[in-house]
Amino acid sequence: MTATRTVDIDATARQIQILEKAGADIIRIAVDSKEDVEALKILRQASKAVFSVDIQENYRLAPLVAPHVNKIRYNPGHLYHLDKHLSIPEKVEFIVKAARENDCAIRIGVNSGSVDPDYKAQYPDDPLQAMVRCAVDHCELLDNLGFENYCVSLKNSDYKEVIEANKRFAAERPDVPLHLGVTEAGMPPEGVIKTRVAFEQLIPAGIGDTIRVSLTVPDDDKGEEIVVGRSILQDIEDGRFRSVPKNFLEGLNIIACPSCSRVENGKFVDLAQDVRKMTEYAEKYKITIAVMGCRVNGPGETDDADLGLWCGPAHVNLKKGTEAVGAFSYDEILAKLREELDKLIEEKHGAQVVPD
Ligand code: SF4
Repeated sequence: MTATRTVDIDATARQIQILEKAGADIIRIAVDSKEDVEALKILRQASKAVFSVDIQENYRLAPLVAPHVNKIRYNPGHLYHLDKHLSIPEKVEFIVKAARENDCAIRIGVNSGSVDPDYKAQYPDDPLQAMVRCAVDHCELLDNLGFENYCVSLKNSDYKEVIEANKRFAAERPDVPLHLGVTEAGMPPEGVIKTRVAFEQLIPAGIGDTIRVSLTVPDDDKGEEIVVGRSILQDIEDGRFRSVPKNFLEGLNIIACPSCSRVENGKFVDLAQDVRKMTEYAEKYKITIAVMGCRVNGPGETDDADLGLWCGPAHVNLKKGTEAVGAFSYDEILAKLREELDKLIEEKHGAQVVPD
């Protein structure tokens, strides 16, 4: 997936080249606005790559995007934002019409951080079931419209939940192709290990048709996602399975999004790396810290973490669970995070942290 702002045509064209050169078969681009669509048209003319475009919260962009791409990804959890007077099936029909008229595929992309609130309410104690039911119901919507050219993804930042959700879905709908990925896997090497474990459990069981490796790395290193993905696939094909390192994720777990065109400040990747370095002292404590790049997915995707950071243009928002702590400048945030982390270690583990 391209990590740069789509309207920055030079930078996004460079991302496409980097990903293609690394061997990507499909390149995903996020489109949020009509300006992004104009940029997409130019990018389309300059590249023969297979494009999958993410329309996130703006389903109305589907007919503008579909003539220029091979696949549209919509997130069922983001369909309720616009046109509240229309039903979800009506909005899905609108997307399907655009895809059908342009011979374009669809991905129903369900994400644990943005599950449709109706499904969350129906399964308050089983968030995985909320994801799976939502995906199955959307498949039925497409089936009832006679649209067959679609696949599904069920992503989560916890690789164990990715395995479980995809197994449950595949048991119900073995006929529907699955796109696999551990979202917000974070930085290498942990992000690579999480992804590898999920793929090693699913692909040999016949589950999964396309893959995404999502790593928090600088824009120029995005090709690493493709290299890692191909090497995992090769290992699986050759029967080489890696064991999970002892105590993996039993202590501190840092989740970080891979960044995309919605990143609000280019300092995001540096911040994620600084968070990891600063928190090394706490590695034995079972605490999850999430670092997200934007306001679209940041607030929701940090809800399940003990401490969450999501980036705005000039400030980083800090949360403790679902509660907001405040917004801090990029210069202040690490000290504030340290303060909250020390308090949390004391609350959860009864351990007093002695300042350096
Ligand atoms: S959290 Fe925001 S910036 Fe990060 S990958 Fe998701 S949409 Fe993109």
